[in-house]
Amino acid sequence: MTAAPTRLVLLGHPVSHSISPKFQNAALAAAGLDMRYEAMDVVPPMLGRMLALVRAEGIAGNVTIPHKQQVAEACDVLTPVAQRAGAVNTFWMDQDRRMGDNTDVGGFARAASQMLGDTPRDLTVGVIGAGGAAAAVLATIESWTNCRALVLNRTVERADKLCTRFRSIAHRIDDARQLAAAQLVVNATSVGLTDDAMPVALDALSPDAALIDLIYRPGETAWVRTGRNRGHRALDGLPMLIEQGALSFERWFGIQPDREAMWRAV
Ligand code: NAP
Repeated sequence: MTAAPTRLVLLGHPVSHSISPKFQNAALAAAGLDMRYEAMDVVPPMLGRMLALVRAEGIAGNVTIPHKQQVAEACDVLTPVAQRAGAVNTFWMDQDRRMGDNTDVGGFARAASQMLGDTPRDLTVGVIGAGGAAAAVLATIESWTNCRALVLNRTVERADKLCTRFRSIAHRIDDARQLAAAQLVVNATSVGLTDDAMPVALDALSPDAALIDLIYRPGETAWVRTGRNRGHRALDGLPMLIEQGALSFERWFGIQPDREAMWRAV
């Protein structure tokens, strides 16, 4: 049986920019739980020691860049979704077993449902990027009915590797103009995180395509802002971030968090 966690942490490097503590602490307060969620900057050589502490003290939490794959390897039990994504963003202890889940997958599904409804079907989705976030997006697309993904990435070998893992739905493309076939285009790169760089030029896309940028920045990303100005339906990474956090909260405590409190906090 899973006991309530003793502490909640976010493990990453860097983590100081993360807004997860804001909305998770709001959810804890709204649920009347006397606990804080803290971001911990863990450099890669220290991850093993941190995970030993997690086990010894019954700590639960989230994982972000660059530790998601390594934590997946260090878990005793992975949910099927975490296995499929090959990465863990949520962990907790069940007696002495370290458990891992990937709520980015469900978080993306819930964010996308705001534009596509609950049961997307018969879609071509452009996925820009081939890292951990792109894998979570492909795991979601795989759960939709009769949908396929066109994967575009700067490093071709990485796109090939990802498309091989998701071979039933994913095809590598080499030219942004091939994204014109997509009804939904997702930016799963880190392009636009720190400046107004665009992952692909918007004139490569169908004018009817919906856009989702996994990046969240105050004031939204240039890709989302410009896309909306050109008439695209567009969503930034905040709904996915809140939804993955809400799903993590459910994993830790077995109850739904107060999503309104989480949104108010950000
Ligand atoms: P990652 O594994 O490090 O992958 C980064 C991706 O960005 C790779 O495809 C990389 O291409 C590409 N990239 C980086 N710099 C580039 C450049 N200058 N030009 C072209 N491509 C470039 O990171 P990740 O975990 O997948 O995360 C990707 C993004 O998703 C991050 O910005 C992260 O904040 C965001 N994210 C958001 C949420 C959310 O809840 N909203 C959740 C997870 C991630 P190469 O393979 O060629 O290096």
